[in-house]
Amino acid sequence: MNSVIKNAKRLIIKVGSSLVTNDGKGLDHSAIAKWAEQIAQLRVLGKEVILVSSGAIAEGMQRLGFEQRPSGIHELQACAAVGQMGLAQIYETSFRAHDLHTAQVLLTHADLADRERYLNARSTLFTLLRFGVVPIINENDTVVTDEIKVGDNDTLGALVANLIEADVLIILTDQRGLYTADPRKDINATFVHEAIAGDIALEGMAGGVGTGIGRGGMLTKILAAKRAASSGAHTVIAWGREESVLTRLAAGEAIGTQLTAQMGQLTARKQWMADHLQTAGKVVLDAGAVQKLVEEGKSLLPIGVSDVIGEFGRGAVITCVTQNGRQIARGLINYASTDARRIMRHPSSEIATILGFVEGPELIHRDNLVLL
Ligand code: GLU
Repeated sequence: MNSVIKNAKRLIIKVGSSLVTNDGKGLDHSAIAKWAEQIAQLRVLGKEVILVSSGAIAEGMQRLGFEQRPSGIHELQACAAVGQMGLAQIYETSFRAHDLHTAQVLLTHADLADRERYLNARSTLFTLLRFGVVPIINENDTVVTDEIKVGDNDTLGALVANLIEADVLIILTDQRGLYTADPRKDINATFVHEAIAGDIALEGMAGGVGTGIGRGGMLTKILAAKRAASSGAHTVIAWGREESVLTRLAAGEAIGTQLTAQMGQLTARKQWMADHLQTAGKVVLDAGAVQKLVEEGKSLLPIGVSDVIGEFGRGAVITCVTQNGRQIARGLINYASTDARRIMRHPSSEIATILGFVEGPELIHRDNLVLL
């Protein structure tokens, strides 16, 4: 296997909290200096690099004297605000040593869900890359709450990979990659060098949750790889303390677990819809409508909808779910929730009589629909 990174032009590198903060002991200056040096070398090779760095909460906890992760949301947000200063400072200093500028970009899910802000973030990141700057991204933890956050930086890394159509997402973590089972518990566990991103079997292998320090475990990395693959990005999960891991990957060496993207690429607008982690509402589909959407590639008609959940306006991105709540698609809906409720279960020919106007015979046109 040859590393996909060798030919990659645009890379997202995600570093986890336990690596950045030396397992919560405080910012690991020497590790960060080493990544900065390697990223500088990647830039010399003509690669564009964006860093997604966790560690704000872990570093803030350390600075404010918390021994355990606080449970209160405002305490966590305060830790993030304090710790983010430390991250900004150390990255700026470490990259300055290589004559590189850094830029702090703090994103929320709402920034990526709003079409205009999404396009703004995209343009700004492209401009920063054009200026030769290394953008350092984190979630804007200080303003997000449980309901509206991305939640973990593996997912954020994948969303950013999709946002700017990166070739590769490199997730640096405190493990060497993915095993077929937990090697501490199963002597038959073997290392997975290469697999296809999105292969359902990988989710069973990853199991488990993250360490007490960061948010993501191996499962969130596997799901992030699947998400990134929808825009064509390959993912590599590797041990962040591996000597010269980034430059060796860029030289073609196979390190860690490589998850190759083989899905059909979504168009830009469908990608944006698929990357909504939360939506304003849901429509519940009957079995016939599920069949039409999934098997036959058809639009969603009001007759196939048995319930409309939430309040939203025309043109909102909403989720299509089955009778037992499984999410199967996202799409831009032609009718506001109040109107959709009135026309659901009815044939499209009755829309004009029921509402007094017609925005279209479909609730969601196929062109505005993406299967998950
Ligand atoms: N945004 C969080 C932080 O900087 C990290 C989330 C994660 O661990 O994935 O502390």
